[in-house]
Amino acid sequence: MASLAGPIVNPSIPTNALTCSQFEQQTSYLRSWLNFRPTGPGPFGRTNTRDVAVYYVQGPLVGGFVGCAPYITPNGPVIVVTNGAAGQTLAHELGHLLGLAHVNDVNNLMNPTAFPTSYLLTNQQCTTARSSRHFQSCP
Ligand SMILES: [Zn+2]
Repeated sequence: MASLAGPIVNPSIPTNALTCSQFEQQTSYLRSWLNFRPTGPGPFGRTNTRDVAVYYVQGPLVGGFVGCAPYITPNGPVIVVTNGAAGQTLAHELGHLLGLAHVNDVNNLMNPTAFPTSYLLTNQQCTTARSSRHFQSCP
């Protein structure tokens, strides 16, 4: 299994340099940084382009965000989460990757501002996530 050869956070990138814009709208330097990820065979006999790369970075990001997703890079999907973010931040960003939008319910994982006390997802959200092209079952 391929692994990153160096630190995930490039020390030459100043803190707060990353904005939450789409991959195509990032500077070429940040695009190359986001695309720095394994590209060979993945752990389940599939290419890594189907796997999700999660980058933990110093934060907060520009705008005070604690996570951004999805970045769809040529090498596969990327989620960015700041160090120290709440655990559900990764789950929330994974929800975005699987096609989920923000909702107003403060107990729902996809609420954009509250830190929910539960990881509630509606049946419709589960159906949406399962139908995502990024959803894959382990063999
Ligand atoms: Zn969100």
